[in-house]
Order: sequence, then structure tokens, then C-alpha cells
Amino acid sequence: MGRILRRFAPQIQKQRSLLIGAFLALMAETLLRLLEPWPLKIIFDSILLPGVNRPAIVLPGIGSVSPLVLLSLLTVGSIGLAVLRGAAAYSSAAGMAVAASRVMAEVRGDLYSHLQRLSLSFHNQAKTGDLIARVTQDITRLREVTVMALLPLLASSLTLLGMVGVMFWLHWEMALIALGIFPLFVLTTTRATRRIREVVRRQRRREGAMAATAAEAMGAIKVVQALSLQSMLESTFFSHNRESLQEDAEAQKLSAGLERTMEVLVTVAVALVLWKGVQLVLQGSVTPGELLVFITYLKTAFKPIRQLAKYTGQIAKATASGERIIDVLDQIPDIRDTRGALTAPPFRGAVWFEQVSFAYDSGSSILRNVTFAVQPGEHVALVGPSGSGKSTLVSLLLRFYDPLEGRILIDGHDLREYKIDSLRRQISVVLQDSILFAASVRENIAYGNLDASNAEIEAAARLANAHEFICNLPQGYDTLLGERGATLSGGQRQRIAIARAAIRRAPIVILDEPTTGLDNHSEQVVNDALRRLTRGCTTFTISHNLHAVEQVDRILYIENGRVLEQGTHTELLALNGRYAKLYQLQSNVRSIHSKRSGENTVLPA
Ligand code: ADP
Repeated sequence: MGRILRRFAPQIQKQRSLLIGAFLALMAETLLRLLEPWPLKIIFDSILLPGVNRPAIVLPGIGSVSPLVLLSLLTVGSIGLAVLRGAAAYSSAAGMAVAASRVMAEVRGDLYSHLQRLSLSFHNQAKTGDLIARVTQDITRLREVTVMALLPLLASSLTLLGMVGVMFWLHWEMALIALGIFPLFVLTTTRATRRIREVVRRQRRREGAMAATAAEAMGAIKVVQALSLQSMLESTFFSHNRESLQEDAEAQKLSAGLERTMEVLVTVAVALVLWKGVQLVLQGSVTPGELLVFITYLKTAFKPIRQLAKYTGQIAKATASGERIIDVLDQIPDIRDTRGALTAPPFRGAVWFEQVSFAYDSGSSILRNVTFAVQPGEHVALVGPSGSGKSTLVSLLLRFYDPLEGRILIDGHDLREYKIDSLRRQISVVLQDSILFAASVRENIAYGNLDASNAEIEAAARLANAHEFICNLPQGYDTLLGERGATLSGGQRQRIAIARAAIRRAPIVILDEPTTGLDNHSEQVVNDALRRLTRGCTTFTISHNLHAVEQVDRILYIENGRVLEQGTHTELLALNGRYAKLYQLQSNVRSIHSKRSGENTVLPA
């Protein structure tokens, strides 16, 4: 808990005044609680035992009053104390709850922003569902437990301290007897707490895994149903579910067991005090009223310890949740703005890869000593077998990763000199399967440039050959798309993605197999849009279809992470190397296909 509180100190600091107010109310509540048994003590010692028929009782500072008047005063006093204590308790609980909610809302916001900024190397490893569980469930749990368990515990602990003080002041011997049982409490609690925490931590991890399984299955429900993977995924989910249930039950049992042990220990303490106390009363060294106060205190004072047993499970859960949140917050994005990074000036678009080598975490090297230069406005195609490193190469240009060796320059400056946002803003990307968001068509295009006007959005859609079909949608540009744009055809999605790329007016464009999987007509329409999108821009096209990139200014043939050949299509054919062979192979397959079906089809890789 200490680690969690320290980590969230900046957010807690902002609620300082509210927290101080709530804490003062808590102190008042404690004080009033300490006073609570005293009217009863006076009733016992000054009214009940001496007899109501006494003519008068002398009160210091007030004078003599009749027992009935004193009784009435004490009754009113008791009610007054209870009302005041209620008000103080309400203020402290409400204040703390509001402060806790505000703190956690801020932590949640920070966590979400942090997650969005973490590098791809983190997200590639992490499970989406588990991350979502952290942003939603874990934060909620931490907040609820802080309000429902931690704060009452804090209140009772303060009361405990106060009461122990008063008990020693009243009679130190009896106080010692009462507290003699304390070490046993500490021992039992620590041991049980440790076990509960272990179980709960395991359970939290399992719940994260469950969320991840569910998220993965729902995200790919089409594939799951098509491959009939339901039962397989269900059994994974169910087994996690069952084990989580068992762990939950185990934690509950441990917690309930601890609570009962505590109750027994409290009873023992009270019995011992009573045994000694009655003897002291009979000897006359303690009044019966004082013994009453003592016993009441003892019962109340042990409340936090009983509560600790009751809340241990919950607090352990919250701690586990807090740790899961902190684990993410402590992740440092490995790609981040370097110190002193500048906002990139408008690029001309000269790109230079200088002896670039790269490997993913898994170790084996993906790019080796890649060197090439691209002129502003030049159109370059990256071709080669699948898995040769083409997509990785453009990821480096976008600074999703940094090269292990060598550097990448734009207009003569290392990418790392620039702020990442300002770099990426000047690069447009169209991928094979463009992801659209569950928002309107207009918003989806505007995500390319959030400052774009409606006229610019429409112009971008026209450039992308998308205006016409968008107008035919039920609500035109305001039509809401399904999640990931699932309500559109592949070609339509690509054209919206092209409009989104166009609206950036970026000097550098990356096309990663943007027409793969489209039918011939869609491919033509999309290609036409792409030509307009890339006019005058430095363009990198990744393509497995060599016929589609014959016309580009230069072709880089990549195999095994190396640029083996480069030149125009004609030059590479004349070279008669690997490119020429691959081209020949594809031409043969193409002619067989067209003979069979009488038309050109999209070729497999
Ligand atoms: P291409 O685009 O030429 O098909 P990629 O650049 O996608 O090739 O992949 C090159 C190699 O890097 C492949 O062997 C692939 O398995 C590996 N790879 C791609 N992405 C990752 C990743 N996120 N983590 C680890 N390895 C990866």
C-alpha cells in the first residue's frame, strides 16, 4: 500500500485541502467516540449506585443539581454527542470518498494516456484484454476498497490509539492485561494476510488472463466461428473462470477464519479484564463506571483489528490491483522524444537509411546493414519474399522502433532529433487492412488531420474516389461505421483510409500492400486514388505483386533483411538476378491464371 500511495502522491497532493478537511472531521469523530461511554459512567457512578433519592449532586463549576436533572442533562448530552459524531463521520467519509474518486479518476486518465504512448514493442507483447481490465476493473477496485475498507480502517486505528491512551490513563494495570493479547493479534493477522494476499494476487492475474482471452475471441469472432473454435476457447475461459472462483473462495475462507479467530481473542481479552476489573472494583480502587468505560473501550478498540481481518482480503485485492496499475505506469516507452528533441520543420522528403541494422526483442536480426537514399518526391517500391523485413523497414521510418545500429535521416537529420509527433504528422500511411474506427465517415477521415474543415474532408474523399459512395451511404458523411469499419467493403475501407492519408498532406507516404485482397475493379479505383495521393510525395510502396510496381522510379529487392538489388524495373531485369527470377515466376503464374479464367487475377505472394 505504501508503494501505491507514494506512486500516486502527485494525484493525491492535488486533493490536499479536501483530504485535510476530511482528516480533521475524522479526528473530531474519534474524539467524540472517546467521549461516548462517559455519560454512562457518570450515570453509574453518580446516580445509579448512590441511589436516585439523593437530594442533590454537586457538579464542579455548575453547582448542585438534582439527580433527575443530571440524568436529563446526560441523556441530552448523549444524544448531542451521537448527532455530532454522526455529522463528523459523514463529513469525513464523504470528503474521503470524493477525494478518492478524484484521485482514481486522474490515475485512470494518466494510465490510459500512458498506455497509448507505450511503444509497439510493449503492445506486441501485452494482451489487450488484460490492459483494458487494468484501466477499468483494477482502478475501480482500488477506488472502492480505498473508500470502503481503508478509510474505515484509518478511522478505527485512530480510535484505537486514543482509547489505548485513555485506558492507560484510567488504569495502567488493566490496560496492560487488555493489551497482553496484542502480540497474538499481530502474529495471526500478519500470517493470514500474507496468505490471503498471495491467493488474491494469483486471482487478479487470472482475471487479467480471462479478460485477454475474451477480448481476443470477441475481436476475432468471425475467425472463431468460421474455424469452430468456440469450444476450445470456452474451455480455456472456463478453466480460468473455475480456478478464479476457487481462489476467490479460498481468500474468502481465509478472511472469514481470521475474523473468527479475532473475535475469540477479543472475547478472551474482555474476559481477562473483567476478571481483574471486578476484583479491583470490589477492592475499591476502580469505580464500576470506570470498569464500564474500560470494557466499552476494549470492545471498540479491538474493532479495527477485527475489521483488519474482514478487510484484509479486499485490501489485498486492491493492493494487487494497484500493483498491476503501477506495473504499467512504470513501463518507460522505449521509443520516446530524446532530450532536446525539436519540432520537425516541413520535410522536403529526402530519406537516407545509413547502415541500418535491427532486431525485435526475440533476437535474430531482421535488417542487416541496410543502406539506400531516396530523393524528395521519388517513388520507391520495396519487394521481396514475405518475411524479408519490408514492413519492419518502414516501421523504422515511422519510429515505431529505433535501429540497433546505423541511423535514418530525413533531409539530412537523424529522426531522433525530432519530436515523434511532429515526425509522424508528416508521414501518411495506408496499410493492407486499414482500420477504421466506430465513428462517422467524416470523423474517420478527419482523424488524419484533426484541424481539417468539412471542405477539406470532402476534397480528400474526392481525391480518394470515395466521395460518390460516401454520398450513397444512408447518412452520407455522417454515417456511423461499425467497429473497425466492419460495415464497409474492403475497397471502400481502403478509399476512406486513402482520404484519411490524403488529408494529412504529408510529404512522405507509405503504402503497405494497400490493394491486396481487392477485386480487380476495386483495385483499379484504389490505385487511381493512390496515384493522386502520392503525386509529388516521397513514396514507399510495399508490394508482393511485381507487376503493380513496374512503373516506380526505383525498386529495392529485399531478402533476409538485406537490400540485394536496386534499380528501375528495366535495370533489374537486365541484371537478371533475383528480381528478374521472381518477376519471371510471377509472369508465368499470371499467364496460367489468365488462360484459365480469361482475366487477370490478383496473384498470391
Ligand atoms: P515483410 O514485410 O517483408 O513480410 P516483416 O518486416 O513483416 O516482413 O517481418 C520480418 C521478420 O520480422 C519476420 O521474420 C517476422 O517474423 C519478424 N517480425 C515482424 N514483426 C515482429 C514483431 N513485432 N516481433 C517479433 N518479430 C517480428
